[in-house]
Amino acid sequence: VIARHFAYETPRDLGAATAILAAGGAGVAVLGGGTWLVPNMSLGASAPDVVLDTRHLGLQSIEESPDELLIGARVTYEQIKASALVRRHAPLLALMANKITGGLQITGQGTLGGSACYANPSSDVPACLAVLGARLQLASSMGQRDVPAAEFFTAAFVTARRADELLTSIVIPKCASPRAGYYKLKFSTGSWPIVTAACLPLSDGEKPGLRIGIGGACVTPVVFSVDMAAQEAASVEASVAAAATQSIVDEWSDEFAGPGYRRAVAGAIAVRALRACQGAAR
Ligand SMILES: Cc1cc2nc3c(=O)[nH]c(=O)nc-3n(C[C@H](O)[C@H](O)[C@H](O)COP(=O)(O)OP(=O)(O)OC[C@H]3O[C@@H](n4cnc5c(N)ncnc54)[C@H](O)[C@@H]3O)c2cc1C
Repeated sequence: VIARHFAYETPRDLGAATAILAAGGAGVAVLGGGTWLVPNMSLGASAPDVVLDTRHLGLQSIEESPDELLIGARVTYEQIKASALVRRHAPLLALMANKITGGLQITGQGTLGGSACYANPSSDVPACLAVLGARLQLASSMGQRDVPAAEFFTAAFVTARRADELLTSIVIPKCASPRAGYYKLKFSTGSWPIVTAACLPLSDGEKPGLRIGIGGACVTPVVFSVDMAAQEAASVEASVAAAATQSIVDEWSDEFAGPGYRRAVAGAIAVRALRACQGAAR
C-alpha cells in the first residue's frame, strides 16, 4: 500500500517525458521496473509528487551498431539473459544477469537502467558497466549527453544524472574476446553482493593484459588493469590480488560486512573472477 497521493504519468515520447522532468525536477521519480522504487514508496522512504512511468518510451530494445551494443534503459535482466547479441558481444553482462538474486519477480521486472540510477554500492551492475567501458545516455529538455560509467557513479547512491534528466540507454563497446569472468561473494544464496569482481581480457592491440572491475567494496566501482606480459600464472594471480587490495580506498560498509572486511577479501574475489575468465569462452 502506498499511503500518499502522487501523480502517475505515462508519456508516449521523450519530449513529453523530459518536459515532465523539467517541470517537476527532484519531485519526479522515474519508474523503471519498480523493484526498488515501489517497495520504498510503500515504506514511505521515497515520496515523489510524480511518478514517471517509462514503459511507453521505447527504451526496451537491445540493438547493435558495428562497434557497440545499445541497450535501452528499461531492458530487464531476463532480456539480457535471453539476448544472443549480449552473449556474443558483452558476455560479462549475461554472466552478471544470471547471478541476480530475487527470482523471476526481480529479474523479469528489474532493469539495467534502474540499477544504474539507483547506484547502490552493493549492486552488481555499476562495476560491470565501468569495466566494460559503457556510456550512459541521458536526455533532458536541454538536449542529450553521454557520460562514461567511470564518471557516472559519483558516490554511494549518487550519480552524475541531474534531476531533470532521464537515462535513455546504455552503450557498450563490443568485446573483442569471447572470454569474461564474474564472481561475487554473498552472505547467503539470496542476499546482495558483498564484493563482486569482473574480469575481461584487454583488447587494445597485442598487449596481453586484463581489466578488472571490483564492485560492492567501495562507494563507487573500481577498475584497474594488470599487465600479463612475461608473467607466470601464479604471479599474474598475485598481481591481480595485490592490485585489487590496493584499489579499495573508499571502502563501503553495511550490515553484511563492516570496515576492513571488503578490503581483506577483494584480492581473493578478483582472483576467482580471473580464473573464471581464463576457463570461460562463449
Ligand atoms: C529481492 C530483491 C533482490 C535483489 N537482488 C539484487 C541483486 O542480486 N543484485 C543487484 O544488483 N540488485 C538486486 N536487487 C536490487 C534492484 O531492485 C535491481 O538491481 C533492479 O535492477 C533495479 O531496477 P528497477 O528497474 O526495478 O529500478 P526502479 O525501482 O524502477 O528504480 C530504481 C531507481 O532508479 C531510478 N530510475 C529507474 N529508471 C530510470 C531512468 N530510466 N532514468 C532515470 N532514473 C531511473 C528510479 O527513479 C529509482 O530512483 C534486488 C532487489 C530485490 C527487491
